Amino acid sequence: MQNQLQLNFKQIKNLISNSKNICIVTHFNPDGDAIGSSLGLYHILLEMGKVVNVVTPNEYPEYLIWLPANHNIVKYSLQKEKTHGIINSTNLFICIDFNELKRTGDLFEILGKNRVKKILIDHHPNPENIFDVQISDISVSSTVELVYETIIQCGFEQFISLNAAICLFTGLLTDTISFSVNCSNPRTFEIAAKLLSFGIDKEEIHRKVFDNFSANRMRLLGYTLGKKMVILPEFGTAYMWLTNDELKDFNFQMGDSEGFVNYPLSIKGVNFAALFMERKDYIKISFRSRRNIPVNKIISTHFSGGGHKNAAGGEEYKLNMEETIKKFVSILPQYAEILKPSYNL
Ligand code: 5GP
Ligand code: MN
Repeated sequence: MQNQLQLNFKQIKNLISNSKNICIVTHFNPDGDAIGSSLGLYHILLEMGKVVNVVTPNEYPEYLIWLPANHNIVKYSLQKEKTHGIINSTNLFICIDFNELKRTGDLFEILGKNRVKKILIDHHPNPENIFDVQISDISVSSTVELVYETIIQCGFEQFISLNAAICLFTGLLTDTISFSVNCSNPRTFEIAAKLLSFGIDKEEIHRKVFDNFSANRMRLLGYTLGKKMVILPEFGTAYMWLTNDELKDFNFQMGDSEGFVNYPLSIKGVNFAALFMERKDYIKISFRSRRNIPVNKIISTHFSGGGHKNAAGGEEYKLNMEETIKKFVSILPQYAEILKPSYNL
C-alpha cells in the first residue's frame, strides 16, 4: 500500500514536471477546503513557472473572496468561453476535493470527454475509478492536507509561498471548523504549524472567514434556531428548514446559511442535525453528525447525495419541502439504535 502511494507521488511529480499548462478543477458550490486547496496549489505551481488556471463550476461565498489570487479563479457559470479555452489548452487536470466527476455539475460532460490526464487529490470515500493517478485518503482532516503531502512528497516544498500558505491554512481552518472536528491526528497540527511558519496571521484569517457576516445572516440564524428547529429527543436528532419566502425576507446571499446545520449538534443529546433549504427546483439537504452515525450513507440511501461520515449533503428534486421532511422523519426509526442519545457516548 505504502509502495503504491510512493508510486503515485512519483507519477504526479512526473506529470507536473512534464506539463506546462495545468488546470485545477474543483466541485460545484466550492467550500473553503476546495478553494483553499485549489488556490494553494495554484500559487505553488505558479512559483514553479507553470501556466495555471483554477476553474470552478460556479460561484462561491463571500467569506472566501479575499484569498490571494481569488480574482483569477474562472467560474464556468459566468465565464463559459474562457473556461472552454482553458480546458482545451491544458496538458493536465488536477481535480480537487471531490470523488466523482458529477460533483463538477455542468463541467461534468466536458471533463468526462476530455482525454488529458487527470490527477485526483481528495478525502471523500470511494473515489470513482476514472482518474489517472489518485491521492485519496478519508482519514485526513481536509484535501488541503493531501495537497500539502503531495507537494512535500514530490519535492516541491521550496515553491510554497506565503500566499500558498494562507490559502492552504484557510482550507484547513474551514474543514476542521476552526480545529474542532476531524483533527485528532497530530499530523494536521504539524501541517498547520508548518504553514504558520510562513508568517501568516491566523487571527486575521479566522476573522475574515468566521467574523465577516452580514447582519441579515445573523438574524436569519437567530430565526432558524428560534423558530424553525425541531428536536426529536428520542432519536437524538434536530432538523431545521427554510423556505424561499423566508430566505427572501432575510435578503439571503450565497453562503449565508454556511454553518447553520452545525448548531444543533451543540445541544446535549443531539448527535444528528439536518437542514433543508428550498432552492429554485430542489431541496438542498445538509446532514451533520457526531460519533458513528454515517450521514453519507443515510443521505445516499434515502435521498441523493453523499459526502463524509459526519458531514454530507445532497439534493431532493422530486419531493417538496413538506414531503422531504416527512420522509426524513419517517426513516429515523430504522436508525434508532445508533441515534439513541446514550449510544456509544
Ligand atoms: P454541505 O452540507 O456543506 O453542502 O455538504 C457537506 C459535505 O457533503 C460536502 O463537503 C461534500 O463532501 C458533500 N456533499 C454536499 N453536497 C453533495 C452532493 O450533492 N453530492 C455528494 N456526493 N456529496 C455532497
Ligand atoms: Mn473537504
